[in-house]
Amino acid sequence: MSQKINGVKGMNDLLPGEIEVWQFVESTARTLFGRFGYGEVRTPVVEDTALFVRSVGEETDIVGKEMYTFEDKGGRSLSLRPEGTAPAARAYIEHSVNNQEPVSRWFYMGPMFRYERMKTGRYRQFSQIGAEAYGAKEPAQDAELMDVVVQFLEALGLTDVTLNINSLGDDNCRPAYHAKLVEYLNAHREELCADCQQRLERNPLRVLDCKNEKCQAVAGAGPNVLEFLCEPCRAHFTDLQRKLGVLGIRYVVNHRLVRGLDYYTRTVFEFIASHPALGTASTVGGGGRYDKMMKGLGGPDVPAVGFAMGLDRLVLLLKEGGKTFTQRPDLFIAVADEGSQDQGLALASRLRREGLKVDFDTRGGSLKSQMKRADKSGARFTLVLGEQERQSGQAKLKPMAGGEPIPVALDAVAATVRAQPEAPAPVPAV
Ligand code: ATP
Ligand code: MG
Repeated sequence: MSQKINGVKGMNDLLPGEIEVWQFVESTARTLFGRFGYGEVRTPVVEDTALFVRSVGEETDIVGKEMYTFEDKGGRSLSLRPEGTAPAARAYIEHSVNNQEPVSRWFYMGPMFRYERMKTGRYRQFSQIGAEAYGAKEPAQDAELMDVVVQFLEALGLTDVTLNINSLGDDNCRPAYHAKLVEYLNAHREELCADCQQRLERNPLRVLDCKNEKCQAVAGAGPNVLEFLCEPCRAHFTDLQRKLGVLGIRYVVNHRLVRGLDYYTRTVFEFIASHPALGTASTVGGGGRYDKMMKGLGGPDVPAVGFAMGLDRLVLLLKEGGKTFTQRPDLFIAVADEGSQDQGLALASRLRREGLKVDFDTRGGSLKSQMKRADKSGARFTLVLGEQERQSGQAKLKPMAGGEPIPVALDAVAATVRAQPEAPAPVPAV
């Protein structure tokens, strides 16, 4: 016997039965982003490695440790995208979008790849939904972007999520904070984990991002970035908070929030779920402002703000909620005899064309076994088609939840099923 080949570690298959919750999240996102005027952008899953090195940053975990990098047959260094902001920015620059409109709002969704140690909510191929707003430097844009996420989470029914915000300042004020942080962390070097001792050398801000409790305690007692903000950065942060108030969005100011990417300036934010199912992977999404990145990538001087959410974690939370997302069939058609098989197949086809979700067992078999399958299918009604029904053109809809059979003409099945008062199968209510 040939040896079985398994899927790649950390990369999951999604099968029917599980995919419905994903489709619910995706369709809800499309609806919400559409309402806010965000258009969808799709970029390739592979990019020039230099794109991520220059934007995300060489010293970040993402680029330093987690990227799937390979050489193609032409000797180019390519990487599977670990995130979506840099590819979208690359596309924005490449297509000179800033020459066509002053403000652009884009969203994307799709797979991202990071070579990580796996746990619940942490995979090597995972999915993100993200949005980017280019061209507006005002705090109102930061607030509007957070509002999309808030409304998106509301539409999903995920309410137990807290928005954390912070400001990292800009080139003007961050160096002073940076120097103070390095001085402080050096004085507490021995208390930090081995990883953070290295981070301290290469990228000290990352120490604030460490999941280790001891490091968090050290970082928490250190200098507060907000006390170092220059006047324009302080004004931006104050106005952002005022605007969040105007929108009725609740938030927590968290001065330890830095996020794992190098490109942020001023506003950063994270949405953190309190459900224990996510463990250390409790951040469902986050983002921030990156006013310098476009220029750093050789593009125009265009300010930008964006965020990304992990779909895998949203799906985990929704599954914990226990709601079902599979759409059950309206009707199961069973045939009473061999001779009705063709008409059964044709009736199913016609009713599907008329918009019903119909289950029909192409294997045929005894009526008893078909009725068992009808039960299992979760269909609202079963219709048995036999010689008598074919001759008379009349049949009965048997409600699977119990109750009296409903007489129906074979040419009026769709209308009769639709007229039945029972609530239709759950569909995303956005
Ligand atoms: P974490 O601190 O949990 O590693 P991160 O800062 O690396 O997160 P981002 O780069 O900000 O994550 O990505 C945004 C979102 O994408 C995260 O909040 C999370 O929901 C999701 N995400 C990131 N990495 C993974 C992964 N390996 N598996 C599943 N989801 C992920
Ligand atoms: Mg990470």
